Amino acid sequence: MSAPSNDTLLVIEGCAVATVDAAGTEYRVGHVVVRGNRIEAVGSGPAPETAGATRIDGRGCLLTPGLVNTHHHLYQWVTRGLAADATLFEWLTTLYPVWAGIDEDAVRVAATGGLASLARTGCTTTTDHHYVFPREGGDLLGAEIDAAAQVGLRFHPTRGSMDLGRSAGGLPPDSVVETLDDILKASADAVSRWHDESFDSMLRIGLAPCSPFSVTADLLRESALLARELGVRLHTHAAETVDEHEYCLSTHGCTPAEYLEQLGWVGSDVWWAHAIHLDDTAIATLAKTATGVAHCPTSNARIGAGIARIVDLHAAGVPIGLGVDGAASNESSSLIEEPRNALLFARQRNGPQALSVRTALELATLGGARVLGRHKEIGSIEPGKLADLALWNLGTLAHAGIEDPIAALILGSAPPLAALLVNGRIVVRNTVIQTIDEEAVGREVARAQAKLVAKAG
Ligand code: ZN
Repeated sequence: MSAPSNDTLLVIEGCAVATVDAAGTEYRVGHVVVRGNRIEAVGSGPAPETAGATRIDGRGCLLTPGLVNTHHHLYQWVTRGLAADATLFEWLTTLYPVWAGIDEDAVRVAATGGLASLARTGCTTTTDHHYVFPREGGDLLGAEIDAAAQVGLRFHPTRGSMDLGRSAGGLPPDSVVETLDDILKASADAVSRWHDESFDSMLRIGLAPCSPFSVTADLLRESALLARELGVRLHTHAAETVDEHEYCLSTHGCTPAEYLEQLGWVGSDVWWAHAIHLDDTAIATLAKTATGVAHCPTSNARIGAGIARIVDLHAAGVPIGLGVDGAASNESSSLIEEPRNALLFARQRNGPQALSVRTALELATLGGARVLGRHKEIGSIEPGKLADLALWNLGTLAHAGIEDPIAALILGSAPPLAALLVNGRIVVRNTVIQTIDEEAVGREVARAQAKLVAKAG
């Protein structure tokens, strides 16, 4: 999928604009000019006369940077609604046997559905943490990369892994774990095959052993060394539940945060998913090392895992992005609901001043970009940055008349998208995805889900 050429001009005007730049610049009525895949200008009032430009009338809308999703498991889109009332460890042991049946077909269909749903909720860049590689599964990372190209999102998939099966004291069944050597080889292959370091890259690979209770210390240590040799980022689940905390204390004699630090898993090239059960020392370590956090408030509440100390992490300067997490623990996977839930849970935990609507929007955009190492390219509306933009329709019955458009976006119900641009290309227009046939994908998802559940018996 190629980016629009530099001759292509697109103008959005008449809308409120929240740039999320360092000064927090906002325009009550403003415009943006996009040339090719880059933002050329942003400002107050109508756009300058630009011959030949495609013009989008943004009256009644709010323009924000596209949202960045920092944690997901796209394959779970075809395993939603199972173990709906379970703890994390119960939920995992119910789902592992179903996940053991995934193949290229299931992953391609699941990723297409999951990515399309993300696009419909304002997401322009997403990561994915894929860690289930059944022996006969085929090219699963390739399948989701194809899906992302088709839907048209900027994609940061990670080559995940598990090497600690049940027979060795881990939680996953032995049929879905791989050997250390196989994992390291597949990880290096994925980076050489797909990783693109360019400024306007649509595809970057990271390495992501799954969690302290499904991988060995050797895999964590070796993956960190390999990622640094190859210049790619590192991602894992950390400090998600009390069960995990107790597992680490009894197995390793230390907290999950201490364990990861010992194995080289802190630094500005690392981000942890969840990071809920942290003490003050762990927060200071994350801040000192600029280790990022993917905060997933909806998933955390669905699993009853706890409320992350986002206010303390933010005050300490830890880079924070938001994530929907896998659809098996967040059936809606609506990215625009995450800043709202982050705000609500932070205020519930820390009081009314805990998190402002503007900080919530920043976490969902520039914060996520920083966590993925893309803050120079995306995450705010500034000339020279890539044109990843979300135009929210606030003229609906649900939103019309809310005084502050950013409060309407964050505190109101999820608004429909008037337009979503990724890399200068229109992916959603008037709530409809332009790149795929939504109804056909929905039918495919139902087919793949039924096949997978039947396979698990
Ligand atoms: Zn997860």
